[in-house]
Amino acid sequence: MSIKRVYTFGNKLAEGKADMKNLLGGKGANLAEMNLIGVPVPPGFTITTEVCTEYNKLGQEKAVKLIKEDVESAIKNTEEILGSKFGDKENPLLVSVRSGARVSMPGMMDTVLNLGLNDDAVEGIAKKSGNERFAWDSYRRFVQMYGDVVLGMKPESKEDIDPFEEIMDKVKEANNLEFDTDFTVDHLKELVTKFKAAVTKQTGKQFPDNPWDQLWGAVMAVFDSWNTDRAIYYRQMNKIPGEWGTAVNVQAMVYGNMGSNSGTGVAFTRDAGTGEDIFNGEYLIDAQGEDVVAGVRTPQEITLEGSKRWAKLQGVSEEERATKYPSLEEAMPKVYQELSTIEQKLEDHYNDMQDLEFTIQDGKLWLLQTRNGKRTGAAMVRMAIEMLDQGRIDEKEAVMRVEPNKLDELLHPVFDKDAMAEANVLTKGLPASPGAATGQLVFFADECEKYENSILARIETSPEDLEGMNIANGILTARGGMTSHAAVVARGMGKCCISGAGEIKIDYKARTLSINDETFEEGAWVSLNGSTGELYNGTIKTIDPELSGDFGRLMELADKYSRMYVRTNADTPHDSRVAREFGAKGIGLCRTEHMFFEGDKIVAMREMILAKDLKGREEALDRLLPIQQKDFEGIFEAMQDLPVTVRLLDPPLHEFVPHDEKGQQEMADVMGVDISVIKAKVESLHEFNPMLGHRGCRLGNTYPEITVMQTRAIIGAAIALKKRGINTHPEIMIPLTGTLAEMKMQEDIVRDTIKKVFAETGETIEHLVGTMIEIPRAALTADEIAKSAEFFSFGTNDLTQMTFGYSRDDTGVFMPVYLKKGILKNDPFEVLDQEGVGQLVKMAVEKGRQTRPNIKLGICGEHGGEPSSVEFCHRTGLDYVSCSPFRVPIARLAAAQATIREM
Ligand code: PEP
Ligand code: MG
Repeated sequence: MSIKRVYTFGNKLAEGKADMKNLLGGKGANLAEMNLIGVPVPPGFTITTEVCTEYNKLGQEKAVKLIKEDVESAIKNTEEILGSKFGDKENPLLVSVRSGARVSMPGMMDTVLNLGLNDDAVEGIAKKSGNERFAWDSYRRFVQMYGDVVLGMKPESKEDIDPFEEIMDKVKEANNLEFDTDFTVDHLKELVTKFKAAVTKQTGKQFPDNPWDQLWGAVMAVFDSWNTDRAIYYRQMNKIPGEWGTAVNVQAMVYGNMGSNSGTGVAFTRDAGTGEDIFNGEYLIDAQGEDVVAGVRTPQEITLEGSKRWAKLQGVSEEERATKYPSLEEAMPKVYQELSTIEQKLEDHYNDMQDLEFTIQDGKLWLLQTRNGKRTGAAMVRMAIEMLDQGRIDEKEAVMRVEPNKLDELLHPVFDKDAMAEANVLTKGLPASPGAATGQLVFFADECEKYENSILARIETSPEDLEGMNIANGILTARGGMTSHAAVVARGMGKCCISGAGEIKIDYKARTLSINDETFEEGAWVSLNGSTGELYNGTIKTIDPELSGDFGRLMELADKYSRMYVRTNADTPHDSRVAREFGAKGIGLCRTEHMFFEGDKIVAMREMILAKDLKGREEALDRLLPIQQKDFEGIFEAMQDLPVTVRLLDPPLHEFVPHDEKGQQEMADVMGVDISVIKAKVESLHEFNPMLGHRGCRLGNTYPEITVMQTRAIIGAAIALKKRGINTHPEIMIPLTGTLAEMKMQEDIVRDTIKKVFAETGETIEHLVGTMIEIPRAALTADEIAKSAEFFSFGTNDLTQMTFGYSRDDTGVFMPVYLKKGILKNDPFEVLDQEGVGQLVKMAVEKGRQTRPNIKLGICGEHGGEPSSVEFCHRTGLDYVSCSPFRVPIARLAAAQATIREM
């Protein structure tokens, strides 16, 4: 059987249907389906996406040959349905030619409208419509659009003038006209002639008057538009494969601008903003599709209820509303009734909220498009739960209906939509931690309190900035990637953060931030969108999130279906509580180094590091022990009975010591030594690549007393709570293990210490000792390491760093370029590189289980809260994922979806 390449639709018949999106594109498949369920759709046909691929391979001539006969008979079919004829002087058929890929690529590809017009057809249209001006205006628009899209007359750069616009301006000037609407029929005729002359001048060819020539040119232009730079860029951004190709939809034109009995609009079967189950939308009388969205005229509401709501919000009186801005329900009650029946029919049929486009031509309603409507996070949740309650979908489908990342919108403040319309983007960095924030610039963490609303801007942050970060509304850094300190800490706090905004220059001395030629002083107002990475000038209103009961129900359903469970990365009782409220079933990573930066702890910590010998270190550690134990008690208490993985000290020591004169003098005073001693020690701690330096278990193995102190603090805290009747499940985790010997040495210290504490107190605590797998060598030798480790937690931040050889903190310089050029599809610090890093994880899972079949397996790198990475963890057989508190709901939903996808 030969391949079918052209699918007709019209008059309640169609050769395609909704599930043929891959072949017919989303638009084509739904146009066919609407016909099949009896919705009025202008007739036409779809040329398949496969023809686009053939066209790209074989070239125009061969591709046309393949579809010529079919297209001719499809046009005939359309003509027969309408009783019109291509290029006819009496009753001409005019068509639109539009792209339509599998998934919508809004505005990326080309469209030609009014095709079929020539000097004969224009007369036919004038007669048929009884409106000569309308006919000539359509003709003028067609020549212009065809010239731009098909004949390549569109200027290449923004600076160049569109030749058609130039001609229009001249005619306006010569005739003293202001607007396009001032053109008379004679002006429009003059424009058509001049436009065609301009085409001949620029292209050396006559403008095609034969509708068939016009049609073939337009079809090929739509195919070509699949491969324009902007379409390619959009595909890369949205991970749409180039092989998919676009379909071409050729469809009879209908006009909403044929007078007061015509109109056009868009509608939604439910509220896309709130999810409320009410039909809503906007329309305009005597207008074309673009007019509704162009913002020149005020669109009117479709329903009376919506119209009244709108008037109230706008402060428009009922009288003014009813006369100037009536709803479609009032203005065209019959059409409204039909539309309202159709919207219900479409939602019932697709079982999802539909986004519709319609046109009313001389009192007759036509549907031009239907598709599953885009919606906010809140609307997505509400619709899923309400559709479940309405019996439209089952529980699994309800879980699948919500995009995990969209939950972010529900958990963080967002910018007010109206306020955003006026926002002015200054630059873009990495979307390090979602949410929206507005505040005044400060450049030093200890000055965040200066303003009620502050934005902390730093070249990069360090753990010392923690307190300030907590106070600031948002954080902005010039350097650092998605797992930089600022990014990780901000996510933990649920605070909006942009990292790696490479265009900003911060001058700490002058207290200024500049972007290209613009300079902002301390105190200047800026706004951050941590979900997109955009930095804005000035203030933008934000809206606080509010969690609904629907959200809770969705989360319950998620837990019901998921195999993995979700823990959190938290190192304060506050964050632990927040995470519990979001449904965390334990802590997967408590980074103990973050605890040392608060209050007085830093002084004792610095004493420990700056001590000249073991004795000095031990004395300082003794002072740290009770403080650290208190910290653990707080966290254990917050998590009650749930497992808590505490990681022993990880970062390089130089991060803790003061680098400024003032701080060094303070330490010299505390320790009773000369500042030169402190300076020398700080100098000696300097490392060229601290990320690969004296950190992790290398610290514990060179200074075992640190491991001893931390173990004592952990077990001591657990015993203290036991005495208060609170159960705990501490899991002690060794960081940055690369060899079994490294791990074993730490394990021995930990177990020895625990034994001693048990003996001293006469108590015991159930516990585990395990390790992070974050060095490639550890993954490669996981069977060995599992001899010592009772659990593995994949530290995919470091594992990514070391597998790619990218320093975590320096990716801001090249990552944006890599992403733009498509060298990397995603930032691997954000989305787990399943192909490379994932292999190491898989291998370690298999090898770990070989040695220890019931080894506990989790992930605590930032990927633990990223949906596609969570799905990978599920498939790889991990027991849990651990992520920052505000990502816990996202991970719960992603884990459930991963399970359901396998069912
Ligand atoms: C990791 O490396 O993935 C990890 C969780 O540890 P950190 O980010 O603290 O290095
Ligand atoms: Mg790590």
